[in-house]
Amino acid sequence: MEIMIQETNKEKKVNMPRTLVKESAEKIGEKIRINGWIGARRDHGKIIFIDLKDISGALQVVFIPKDKELYKMAESLGLEFAVSIEGQINQRPEKMVNDKISTGKVEMLAEKLEILSKSENLPFELDADKEPNEGIRLEYRYLDLRREKMRENIFLRGRVIKFMRQYFWNEGFTEIETPLLTKSTPEGARDYIVPARLEQGKFYALPQSPQQYKQLLMVAQFEKYFQVARCLRDEDTRGDRQPEFTQFDVEMSFIEQEDIINLMENMLIELAKKETPEKHITKVPFPRITYKEAMEKYNSDKPDLRENKNDKNELAFCWIVDFPMFEWKETENRWDATHHPFTMPQEQDIEKIKKDPGKILAFQYDITLNGYEVGGGSIRSHKPEILEAVFETMGHTKENIQQKFGHLLKAFKFGVPPHGGIALGLDRLIMILRNEKSIRDVIAFPKTGDGRDLMMNAPSEVDDAQLKELNIKIVNKDKK
Ligand code: ASP
Repeated sequence: MEIMIQETNKEKKVNMPRTLVKESAEKIGEKIRINGWIGARRDHGKIIFIDLKDISGALQVVFIPKDKELYKMAESLGLEFAVSIEGQINQRPEKMVNDKISTGKVEMLAEKLEILSKSENLPFELDADKEPNEGIRLEYRYLDLRREKMRENIFLRGRVIKFMRQYFWNEGFTEIETPLLTKSTPEGARDYIVPARLEQGKFYALPQSPQQYKQLLMVAQFEKYFQVARCLRDEDTRGDRQPEFTQFDVEMSFIEQEDIINLMENMLIELAKKETPEKHITKVPFPRITYKEAMEKYNSDKPDLRENKNDKNELAFCWIVDFPMFEWKETENRWDATHHPFTMPQEQDIEKIKKDPGKILAFQYDITLNGYEVGGGSIRSHKPEILEAVFETMGHTKENIQQKFGHLLKAFKFGVPPHGGIALGLDRLIMILRNEKSIRDVIAFPKTGDGRDLMMNAPSEVDDAQLKELNIKIVNKDKK
């Protein structure tokens, strides 16, 4: 593909194939072409040095006044300009060797230069000691993502997802996508809803998780499912939450709690070994603590079990098991499922479930890491009568159950296998692996704490025509 050339010295258009800068160390004496951005510029007397950065690293490029036109162009180079340069790779003089970078023994003597695009002065320095203010980072996220720390975060995120995908494929799982436009699945949060243009007055809900679909995939006889799933929950601003976040979501048939725990534990151990070899896990196998014990001993269901809280490379995983099936919801004066209603109670006697809900434990497990919950799951109620008893205990009427969950009860009449699963919160896991304090720092394009995308300026108003088509009227614009 021909690149649009804005400026070039003489007719010497740069036209060699491109070499990545990290390969330059092996090209001493050769002429190569590199593409990238001006990461730094140092003028030493008559010599101009620039650091040319690309996806693979950075290379020092030298411009000398011998070729006047080329030199003049080099003088106009500003930080972050996108350029293409051709030149010869030479060994650096001994005293200029930089052992910190892989290209530190070589440099390029520039012969041709194209400025592919210029850059204005940036609103913040990319390598400032002090982190720029978060508002400006989010408004110019594409610049923020150029910072070294953010690049490492995003690269690690990609590698973690790749590792997990590979691991689960190797274990016989299949990756299956489930819909975004769907019906509400209760995961304890408010739904985001989307108006249905073709059925006015009706709405889709965006999934709080793929919970019901993944269970239906077990009815569909896939046996082992996973998905890198986006989950959407419309919660009030609460700490470090995002309206949309990513789960590594898993479901399996013909298994017990033990199988899921072992599978996830082995995967996490291998992941840490491969992707964060500098880290060490405090205890293997991961400790298992009952919910009751955790509350009594640590007053928390996500205890921080690190032996040395100043060791940034310590990973203390822990399983919390035997959660209570129900919790009393004071505000609504009713029992609610601690996890979600699809979880299997450890008691199978319907009368006992209904009579004393507070006493019933669930086949539910959370996995915690350094004091954070990084995942949770359960064995599901696959017997329709138990599922119904749970819904009734939560205060649903029979009609209400049919209307909301009839599809699931119907499916469970067709040879549903016993099944269970888990979901890992990828954002939080990666945040901890990178020693970050906020999940926003491990998400390429996150929202602010109050749910705004400062770069795209979302949410935003829509055209009257769009509203009209949907038959929607904004009644009170200023209402918060
Ligand atoms: N859907 C559950 C959640 O989002 C995870 C699970 O039970 O597998 O917490």
